[in-house]
Amino acid sequence: MRENALLRLGKRRIGVKEIASQAWCEKQMELYALYGKEMTMQMQKGMQRHSEKQAEYFVELEAKPVTYPDRLYKDAYENRVSMRTLNEKGECSELKIWGSINGYGISGKIDAIKLCEGKARIVEYKTKKDAKGAMLGESDSVQARIYKKLLAELKNGDFSYPNFSKMYGLGDMRISESFRNELAGLGIEEGERSLDSIYKAMFDQMHMLPEIDEKLEVIYLERENLSELARYMIDYNGEELVERLKDYMEFWNGGREARPVPEKEKWKCNWCTFFNKKCFVWAG
Ligand code: SF4
Repeated sequence: MRENALLRLGKRRIGVKEIASQAWCEKQMELYALYGKEMTMQMQKGMQRHSEKQAEYFVELEAKPVTYPDRLYKDAYENRVSMRTLNEKGECSELKIWGSINGYGISGKIDAIKLCEGKARIVEYKTKKDAKGAMLGESDSVQARIYKKLLAELKNGDFSYPNFSKMYGLGDMRISESFRNELAGLGIEEGERSLDSIYKAMFDQMHMLPEIDEKLEVIYLERENLSELARYMIDYNGEELVERLKDYMEFWNGGREARPVPEKEKWKCNWCTFFNKKCFVWAG
């Protein structure tokens, strides 16, 4: 058995996007974790447009975090505001989520949630150059489905404050004095100016979310002007997802090497930065 992949890759938690990337090429996901991702101009533009789209509903906490606990506080505070926005405006952006799969800590950020017939529907936005690239990708669909699984577990209390506190070691963490003073200056009540209190309140709010919709949306936007290129409705299909996650987690457990794409998908290598450099599987 190989070493647990988290240890080998020097990580503490697994990102939802990393798990979803296993659906494209697990080997590529591992190589990105080992060597980093070079950001192309197109990627940077896509990220910038993505943030512009998210800014429609997202309200950032104005206090500047100095330490890691400050940043954790900011996440919880912004989540509280986002969930209020969902109730008030029927839509919210950038909800951070956490959970556990096979005992591994998982984190991610949902692009948007909107209310549809009283249910909270997860929406993922992806930017693409043009309509040709706007076919529903398997990894995009898997990403949205993992978000639904984790969000439902947060709502149902299957993953709650004590799990989070243990995973992040909140017990001994304190926000910095300067950050606390900024929070006071913003009018945040004293009772909410600690990690413990803000996370407890945030988890309570998560339990109050509406039922999480079994339908999910993936929307592809044109990178330049954010016009809609295509929209796909996906059924959650939890049983298939659980089986898929079992297989993906085998890699993280160290049960097998990272899998390259199979021969019928070796066309993907044409777009891979590692082709013939760090990966020679299909180099011929
Ligand atoms: S070259 Fe192909 S098989 Fe290798 S990491 Fe890239 S996409 Fe995967």
